[in-house]
Amino acid sequence: MKILKSLSREDFKEKFGTKEQCLSYLSNEKWGDFYTCIKCEKTKYCEGRKPFNRRCSKCGYDESATANTLFHKVKFGIDKAFEMAYDISTSKKGASSIWLAEHHGVKQMTAWLFRRKVQQAMKSSEEFPLEKEVHVDEFEIGTPQKGEQGRSRSEKKVRVVIALEYRNGKSGRGYAKIIDDYSSKSLEKIFHKHISKDAIITTDGWSGYKPLMKEYPHFEQKLSNKGQNFKMLHIQIRNFKNWLRGVHSYCSKETLNQYIEEYFFRFNRMNFRDSILDKLLSRMVREKPITYKSIKYNVT
Ligand SMILES: [Zn+2]
Repeated sequence: MKILKSLSREDFKEKFGTKEQCLSYLSNEKWGDFYTCIKCEKTKYCEGRKPFNRRCSKCGYDESATANTLFHKVKFGIDKAFEMAYDISTSKKGASSIWLAEHHGVKQMTAWLFRRKVQQAMKSSEEFPLEKEVHVDEFEIGTPQKGEQGRSRSEKKVRVVIALEYRNGKSGRGYAKIIDDYSSKSLEKIFHKHISKDAIITTDGWSGYKPLMKEYPHFEQKLSNKGQNFKMLHIQIRNFKNWLRGVHSYCSKETLNQYIEEYFFRFNRMNFRDSILDKLLSRMVREKPITYKSIKYNVT
């Protein structure tokens, strides 16, 4: 299979190298030919105070290209924000907040918060369930506990269930979810959100999957045979864990979810690497802004 290369940094710079280019993109993506004032809903506008703002001709409300998007109130420069989005979505190993902070000369907290916004836009729409052959398995991730120095003595295990399409001997798309335990009630989450009823599903022999067979007619359980029967899945689990280790060191259950969404947003677009940034940016325009405060208090 031919894998398209991601947008090179040179091409990126040519497209989004200046603040004007970024704001122009946002303005087009947000309004294009269909401007509507968010205050009075009239559709006529003139130029606003700042470049690429639009000012309502009726009520005078002046809106920036970044307002009401995830780029709202980004203080370190819109061009830097675009480049961070580029780094996060296209870099092979993923970009940690520490790396982003160093590379772009911002505080680590600033990089972390912006990264969190990018992750918000990477959340699955849950509209495209996995199809055909799907393998499901569970695994654990050890997360060092907050506040412990040096070599972590106690690791808290977080349980994850993963589903992966198996297409002509290769991995297709995938999804994963954190679960509280291995009960049917917990395992069904990934089935209901991410697996088509028509899929041909294979799991190991765990009894927790049995009740799901009623809902999914093409369901088979196989002995794992020390992982031999789910080789592809185990390779992908290993890849995910390696990636996770590279992008951050401390991981709570709450933030792990965001990283899972980020990983599979990228993973499921592996064959569309040239358009992944566009996809991400356009989602960032459509998502409502979030603030550090709202993240702190809205941990889900
Ligand atoms: Zn108006």
